[in-house]
Amino acid sequence: MKDSNAGNFQIKIPSSKIEVLAEADVVVCGGGCSGVAAAIAAARHGASVILIERWPTVGGMATNALVNGWHRSDRENVVINGLVEESAQRAEKEGWIVKDSQYPHAHETHWFDPEGMRIVWHRMLKESGVRTFCHVAVGEPVIEDGKIKAVLVDTKRGRRAILGKYFVDSTGDGDLAAKAGVPFSYGRESDGLVQGMTLIFSLEGIDGSVKEKRLAAEPGVMEMMRELRGKGEFPQFNDANCGHYLRNAENGTLWNMLPVAGNPLDEEELTSLTAEAREKLVSYLSLWRKKVPGYAKATIRETGFALGVRESRRITGLKTLDHNMILDAVKHKDAIGHGVWMIDIHDPKGTGYTTYSDRGKRNMLETGTSYHIPLGMCLNKQISNLAVAGRCASSTHEAHSSVRVQTHCMVMGQGVGTAAAICLRDGKSLTQVDIMELQKTLKKDGVYLEDVP
Ligand SMILES: Cc1cc2nc3c(=O)[nH]c(=O)nc-3n(C[C@H](O)[C@H](O)[C@H](O)COP(=O)(O)OP(=O)(O)OC[C@H]3O[C@@H](n4cnc5c(N)ncnc54)[C@H](O)[C@@H]3O)c2cc1C
Repeated sequence: MKDSNAGNFQIKIPSSKIEVLAEADVVVCGGGCSGVAAAIAAARHGASVILIERWPTVGGMATNALVNGWHRSDRENVVINGLVEESAQRAEKEGWIVKDSQYPHAHETHWFDPEGMRIVWHRMLKESGVRTFCHVAVGEPVIEDGKIKAVLVDTKRGRRAILGKYFVDSTGDGDLAAKAGVPFSYGRESDGLVQGMTLIFSLEGIDGSVKEKRLAAEPGVMEMMRELRGKGEFPQFNDANCGHYLRNAENGTLWNMLPVAGNPLDEEELTSLTAEAREKLVSYLSLWRKKVPGYAKATIRETGFALGVRESRRITGLKTLDHNMILDAVKHKDAIGHGVWMIDIHDPKGTGYTTYSDRGKRNMLETGTSYHIPLGMCLNKQISNLAVAGRCASSTHEAHSSVRVQTHCMVMGQGVGTAAAICLRDGKSLTQVDIMELQKTLKKDGVYLEDVP
């Protein structure tokens, strides 16, 4: 991974004393779906918990990038439950989630309203007693004797420290683990590029009589877009995903078709990619208004508050998940739950298409099978009180494309949050956790966990 500005200039900061903002047994850094699950699980098992999130609400990609589909089934049975099931039940009560029409015979099981899931998760955090600090980005860790003692945060009132006994890095990008010196991988082996990104958006003002919102269903439209794209007169789009993400509102279908590619860890590049993506949307819309029946008055209802980032750092753990473990449904002694999703690599060059692993186009597990998500992919050799959960956990580029999906990230979150609470009680470091007790506790909490050798 290149870091274009690093090392060119340096300044010295005078050493200073930093005020302590807050202190907890478990400090969860990053409030995406994995961090939410980690925080709730640790708090429900008796730990005092702080969750730190840089954006105004929790949910990460699920809420702020409008990524609203869940994969929970092995195509015969639902095999991901626990906090995922609880979140779904609570959202269902309010009408914020719908089951997929093929449920439970497709990997995809649910489609939710990101607005609703925000509310559900903030409620669950509050009820579990988690102290949540939004609007705060986690900075440098303070490390003593191989343990993180505190993380520094910059607040409007100045630099502060948040102290903890155990830390979870659920920043998606592995910010904390990387700053703490845990090694990581970035991108695919061939050229170091990470999966492409997508700006998800929704439209309104589409004529109510246009019942089918899938653009692909409009005769001639896709052909026209492809032809113009071929001539360089229309931006790139993902043909397979033209408007297939559901949302409850009549005109609120979410579109997952607008690809861009680059380095999500370079803030300047990320900013310009996000602006570029919004310009592409303007081009799409201007063509559709003129050419697609029912779209004459279509306008942008919303775009993801953040560009959808699929992949950045993959922190090197005690175990690294690879694509054979996924496709062969491999089981692990230290399993904390199951995964079902396929190898689904969005082209790092930004075409939006899926590319495959070296097992060719065999990118799906057999129907009725699932793989284990091991705790070892969330733990590391360097920092004994740090776990990683979510898309930055230890996997190869290929395996990451499966285990990055939200339900799988929540399995990791619930697993490490529960592990931290057990270790706190037993006075142990995370790698010493009693794995059988952890598994027993997870099962009691509704996590599906079978075939533990
Ligand atoms: C376009 C797109 C489509 C996708 N489609 C699907 C799909 O259909 N189904 C599915 O399940 N998954 C899908 N995924 C993948 C999935 O959404 C993500 O991989 C998953 O949400 C990752 O969860 P996470 O908690 O690990 O990380 P994130 O959701 O990225 O959350 C990380 C959180 O940490 C915060 N954070 C980051 N750095 C800091 C810091 N330094 N300090 C404080 N906070 C910080 C972020 O603001 C964010 O809230 C898709 C992803 C994209 C981009």
